[in-house]
Amino acid sequence: MDASGAYERFRHWAATLLAHQQAGSEVYQFSTIGALLDGVYDGDITVAEILRHGDFGLGTFNHLDGEMVVLDGVCYRVRADGTATRADPTDRTPFAAVTRFHADFEFDIAEPTGRAAVADAIDRRIASANLIYAIRITGRFRELHTRTVLAQQEPYPPLTQATEGQAETVFTDATGTLVGFRTPEFEQGISVAGYHLHFLDAERTGGGHVLDFDLEHGRVAVSGAAELHLSLPTSGAFLDARLSGADIAERIDQAEGPGADRPPEP
Ligand SMILES: [Zn+2]
Repeated sequence: MDASGAYERFRHWAATLLAHQQAGSEVYQFSTIGALLDGVYDGDITVAEILRHGDFGLGTFNHLDGEMVVLDGVCYRVRADGTATRADPTDRTPFAAVTRFHADFEFDIAEPTGRAAVADAIDRRIASANLIYAIRITGRFRELHTRTVLAQQEPYPPLTQATEGQAETVFTDATGTLVGFRTPEFEQGISVAGYHLHFLDAERTGGGHVLDFDLEHGRVAVSGAAELHLSLPTSGAFLDARLSGADIAERIDQAEGPGADRPPEP
């Protein structure tokens, strides 16, 4: 064969591969974290619809009644007592983000490693802090702190008040999976900038929104995305919500956990 023919075949192979990767590289998100902060806790989108857009992700449920974990195409609801059950396809959510998980790369963590060091290990390997990455960490956790918001009643308080009554759960020597995203700083207010992770244990019966963890050993898988499909509510409290403001990063930190989750300022 001549060299130019081989090159053309390589180009075709590379283009096909890229197209294939890009087809799976979308994050679909319903509503914004800013809307949750402002007390928009009811959405009209169902779990069934969310699952049409992805097999992996996180979110919450109407009335803020539990934390959502989507793993391997199944949507789970973790309630305030830390117990997880399969969500009903007709359950509705005011905020969720999902993707079709495809591991662009994976690596093992063999030694006990805290949350910040795990985040550093991922940050060192990603191509850019300006793209979105779905993060899956399966392993054994020496300790893992989660919170689960309590179901809210109307009139809804802002998220910073709603999370004051959150139930915290400590898992020790737990096996399971962290499910979430690393989101660019510029998306703060649309999503949670930095790492936002939810936990689901191996039995699929417990979990929550992750505040802190100490990984004993595990495997990290990272699935990159360059497309954000943002679907906005067209009715209800969203239409009149206050969705920005200089204090939004501060309010997100207050509601979603310590700022150590956030990537270092450049
Ligand atoms: Zn969360």
